[in-house]
Amino acid sequence: MSTDTAARPAPLFVGDHLAMDFLNTSAMPGGELVEWLKDGDDLLDWLVSANAIDPVVAMQFRSEASRVQLDEVAQRARSMRAWLREFLERHAGRPLAADAATELGPLNQVLARAQSHYQIEADGETGALALTRARRWTEPAQLLHPIAEAIGELIVEADFGLIRACEGSACTLMFLDRTKSHARRWCSMALCGNRAKVAAHRARAQGKSA
Ligand SMILES: [Zn+2]
Repeated sequence: MSTDTAARPAPLFVGDHLAMDFLNTSAMPGGELVEWLKDGDDLLDWLVSANAIDPVVAMQFRSEASRVQLDEVAQRARSMRAWLREFLERHAGRPLAADAATELGPLNQVLARAQSHYQIEADGETGALALTRARRWTEPAQLLHPIAEAIGELIVEADFGLIRACEGSACTLMFLDRTKSHARRWCSMALCGNRAKVAAHRARAQGKSA
């Protein structure tokens, strides 16, 4: 754990996709910029809370990798996040055009180094055999791979017309709208939806009294 995490709110999982939650690890939920990936410890904490890695893997890296190595991976994660933000700023809100493929070099470079393989395992609930993806965790840089793969999946599978920014004023959070009506407007009711309702109510009340 980082020493100054006490003042920081818990990370937000409002993106409805791992890649969008990753994007939202830098945000201004209370009007001030919060960074949830300050260092390697932060990155491990976030990956575990996002269910992107097993807690055992995080423990392994905490004991075997150096702080410098982990901090360097966190730095690379922040760069990848900046790249994703720029990519989404260019493309979110409408179907992704095929020529976006020319912009994917930085992501493909990370993906090319992933070491994962299929394994056949019995499903815990049904007992049915299923192909699962397993990883050999040998170096901290691999911590980027679950994130890069989620970004790749978002790019290939998500309807970019449904990737939107929260309408809250000064809110920087983004999400993939997977609601049936595709009418989602807020990162969450608690953070922005209620605030907007209160503001609208106040505006109506002022309109009446004027
Ligand atoms: Zn919001």
